[in-house]
Amino acid sequence: MGLNIIMLGPPGAGKGTQAERFARDQGVPRISTGEILREAVQAGTPLGCAANETMDAGRLVGDDVMIAIVRERLAQPDAQGGFVLDGFPRTVAQAAALDSLVRDRGQPLIVVEIRVPEEELVRRLHWRRVCGTCGHNAAADDGPQCPLCGGGWVQRADDDDGVVRARLKVYDHDTEPVVEYYRRRPTFRQVNGHQPTARVAADLDAAIDAARLAGLAALERHL
Ligand code: AMP
Repeated sequence: MGLNIIMLGPPGAGKGTQAERFARDQGVPRISTGEILREAVQAGTPLGCAANETMDAGRLVGDDVMIAIVRERLAQPDAQGGFVLDGFPRTVAQAAALDSLVRDRGQPLIVVEIRVPEEELVRRLHWRRVCGTCGHNAAADDGPQCPLCGGGWVQRADDDDGVVRARLKVYDHDTEPVVEYYRRRPTFRQVNGHQPTARVAADLDAAIDAARLAGLAALERHL
């Protein structure tokens, strides 16, 4: 049964960690638009060159570019049985475009918002380290090297304290309206992200189960 999932939440809420785990458990791809852009920057493609400065400043890359990236990625064979989107949509225009992209899938679009107080986000991003080679997020019990590829830990350029404040402002201004866009749907759920990772994971799994059932019931009513 396909699962079409969006993880919403500000930077540092734990979307990436939870999306990675959930997608692995369910055998569907995790699609992180931030990761797609960072790979493009590293590879020096035209997309990467165009997006680099915007990302380092904590601003959003244009809707048309982002929608085209996601349209192309969702058309890949591995995304036909479902997906977990992490970092998209970030604007109401992106959310509306996504609705038309998934309209014909016959599966509900499940939206989970992970909520964490702002001071905790700032603290987490200040200390966050990622693998400089593969981008994996360091966990508290990881050693001096990335457990996936042996790479060294680095701080993301946009996790600099000043840029973090800019990113949180952008979230309030551009992405909070996306939460409002979805809030009244039966498939919308909120999860408390200010808990140990395993508790967040358990709450998230329960929320997705409940949202899926509510979404299927709503789809049936409209048949
Ligand atoms: P993330 O890894 O999700 O925090 O994304 C890192 C950066 O990539 C963001 O701060 C934006 O500059 C850019 N980005 C990622 N996803 C999007 C999106 N859906 N719309 C616009 N910009 C994005």
